Order: sequence, then structure tokens, then C-alpha cells
Amino acid sequence: MQLVLLGAPGSGKGTLAADLKNIYDIPHISTGDIFRRNISNKTELGLKADAYISKGQLVPDDITINMVADRLSEPDCSEGFLLDGFPRTIPQADALNDIMKKLGRSLTAVIDVTISDELVLKRLTNRRVCSNCGLSYNLISMPPKQDGICDKCSGKIIQRKDDSEDTIKKRLETYHKQTQPLVDYYRDIGLIFDVSNEGKPEEAVNKVRKYFE
Ligand code: AMP
Repeated sequence: MQLVLLGAPGSGKGTLAADLKNIYDIPHISTGDIFRRNISNKTELGLKADAYISKGQLVPDDITINMVADRLSEPDCSEGFLLDGFPRTIPQADALNDIMKKLGRSLTAVIDVTISDELVLKRLTNRRVCSNCGLSYNLISMPPKQDGICDKCSGKIIQRKDDSEDTIKKRLETYHKQTQPLVDYYRDIGLIFDVSNEGKPEEAVNKVRKYFE
């Protein structure tokens, strides 16, 4: 199963992906997570990416596409994968088509996770993540049991640098301009499945499960 998750920042893609990865037993490939890992390890890729991410801009296509092409050719992707946060531009979607052709595969579905901008702002300003395992929390709806400490791995819980209000607004603007056109791109070829994610996370998971049944 080759899946793509589309949706605004804060739409809940990451939380949904964590469940779908287990249900369908496929690797969850989040380009945002790969960039963040490189930033914290201070790699050359991380230094380049940080200059864009901290401003709420997209990392240039050539850097991102090469990174994803390498990741998709790894052996754990041979039975399928779940792409979260890629593609984010039309050239990235075109590149994904080429990568799939070379691998002799095709996309199974593109899940478009929908949510209003107001709710994105509310969710992201209250979002906190584990600096060790990446698990997401929400200070209002899903706080950690112990303040500042991850329930799963006891790692330190932090606020992402790009979850400040100004950067969230910039990321939303970037999303509407550069990524939303992909919904029509994939709708035109019959791959889109829309899932509203304004309710509880398990409701979105159940809708996806039903769709694939
Ligand atoms: P995310 O965790 O998916 O919200 O991604 C965090 C940031 O990483 C984004 O705001 C972008 O700056 C960058 N990023 C992630 N995926 C991509 C992509 N496919 N193309 C360009 N930049 C990306």
C-alpha cells in the first residue's frame, strides 16, 4: 500500500499517520521529521533546511526530492509506505510520479486531511512534542500525564520553534499557495480521499479504515 497524506500544518496528519503505520504495517516517512532530525544532528542538510523551516518556508524542491528518492529506495519501503508532508508542491508531485515509475509502483491513495485555519492556529499554538520520540501532545486536549515529560519514553517535551503564532500563519499561507493545488492534481486522477479531522483523532482513523475495507 503506497499512501500519501496531504493536509495543512496542524491538520493532524502526524497523529493519523502514527495509527495508519501500525494498522497497515508500513513505514511512516515524514519529511518534516527527517529535516528536524538533521537539524538536531547539525548535518549539512539540516543546516540548509533550518534556514527555510524557521521562517515557515518550504525547503527547496531539489533538496527535498533527492532526500525522499533516497528514502523510498530503502528496503523497508518495498512493501509500501506512508508519505506524510511530501509532496508539498506540483514539481514534487511530478517527481514522485517519476520515482514511482522507476520503482515500478503506483500510489494507492492520497488522503486529504481537512480542517479550518482557525482550528489549526488553536491546535498548533497548544502543540508540544517529545524531543526524543516525536510524540505529539496538546496542552488542552491531550496533555502529558507529567508536566514536560513524555508519557511514552520520558523524553523532554518541547514546543517546536516553527509553532509560534507568526510562523504558523506563514506556514498556512505557504500551504494554501503551494500545497493546496495538489488536492485538485490528485482529485483529477481519482486518487483523493477527503477526511475531515475536526473531531477526535480516532474518528479520522476509522474513516480511513472503512474506506480501505
Ligand atoms: P511538517 O513537520 O510536515 O509540518 O514540516 C515542517 C517544515 O519542514 C515545513 O514547514 C517545511 O519548512 C519543511 N518541509 C517538510 N516537508 C517538506 C516538503 N515536502 N517540501 C519542502 N519543505 C518541507
